[in-house]
Amino acid sequence: MQPRDLSSHTAYRAGRGIEEVARELGLDPANLVKLSSNENPHGPSPKAAAAVEAAAPTIHTYPKTSAADLTDALATKWSVTGEQIWLANGGDGALDYLCRAMLEPGDEVLVTKPGFAYYAMSARYHHGEVNEYPLQKADDFAQTAAGVLDHYDGERIIFLTSPHNPTGSVMALDEVVTVADETAEETLVVVDEAYGEFAEMDSAISLLSDRDDIAVLRTFSKAYGIAGLRLGYAVVPEVWADAYARVNTPFAASELACRAGLAALSDDEHVEKSVATAAWAREYISENLEAKTWESAGNFVLADVGDGSAVTKAAQREGIIVRDCSSFGLPESIRITCGTEETTKRAVSVLNEVLTS
Ligand code: PMP
Repeated sequence: MQPRDLSSHTAYRAGRGIEEVARELGLDPANLVKLSSNENPHGPSPKAAAAVEAAAPTIHTYPKTSAADLTDALATKWSVTGEQIWLANGGDGALDYLCRAMLEPGDEVLVTKPGFAYYAMSARYHHGEVNEYPLQKADDFAQTAAGVLDHYDGERIIFLTSPHNPTGSVMALDEVVTVADETAEETLVVVDEAYGEFAEMDSAISLLSDRDDIAVLRTFSKAYGIAGLRLGYAVVPEVWADAYARVNTPFAASELACRAGLAALSDDEHVEKSVATAAWAREYISENLEAKTWESAGNFVLADVGDGSAVTKAAQREGIIVRDCSSFGLPESIRITCGTEETTKRAVSVLNEVLTS
């Protein structure tokens, strides 16, 4: 037998890992620096790590109380009701729930090109069709309502990413509002703020108090540093928030994820350090890398290096793993995750050697 026709589906291509590269090139993993997946260079919040250890003896139970406590904490943080917080297995899981709640077979979604691959993947899993709106390199990947609306054709969901992966550009909240205002009542605008903590702008969650057509995605994978636990959430409008009960996979976030998430939420120091390091690294990379870079509001910088694949491979041989952006449709570019001061400086120095050799 065969699965259903998956020919329009594409596999997710994650940034390359240290072990994988070390084995392939016969290098010592200890000498490799991974700046290819926008992970937190400071590791997890120490409070989250301690919470995982403390919770270890109770992982035989389903995560009921911990999920309720985390939901309450997030609801308080964002001044929404608990029902509006849709916990999930990473931001990716929250995208699945939004697609599940919204899409009928054959419904269309509108996604950015270049952009984060999982919007289209999730839509297709849920029997949706995918259309694209471009972000133009010639406009420095500027995100405007007009740029989206020009390509809008009644889609059920529009995915906006702010800050945008892999370019780092943001969409101002008034542009988000224009997109929501100018589209059909039954079009949901999803604002993906996976990198929201790193940007100096308000969250689109503030828009939810007086509208029912915007949902916002957030994650614990980046600024909170617990990507390995897979914890994210959507914040949705109150009027249809109860749909979660009908679409979520039971116990959508694990016991360890919920406990760690709660602890990480209370660790302002770790988030502030992570955000400050990213801000420093963005500036360092853009000032010192001998390549064109784009202003970024995330914890990464996009750079034009001519041949992204060749530069990525050459840097890898020197122990620096960055992201070749060919899979984003930007073969001339690499994306460099902001590291610590030490690893960022090493990455820039290696990349400059590669670029000038
Ligand atoms: N949105 C964007 C734009 C991302 O880059 C990512 C992670 N790479 C996610 C969502 C999902 O992150 P996670 O599932 O780890 O929460």
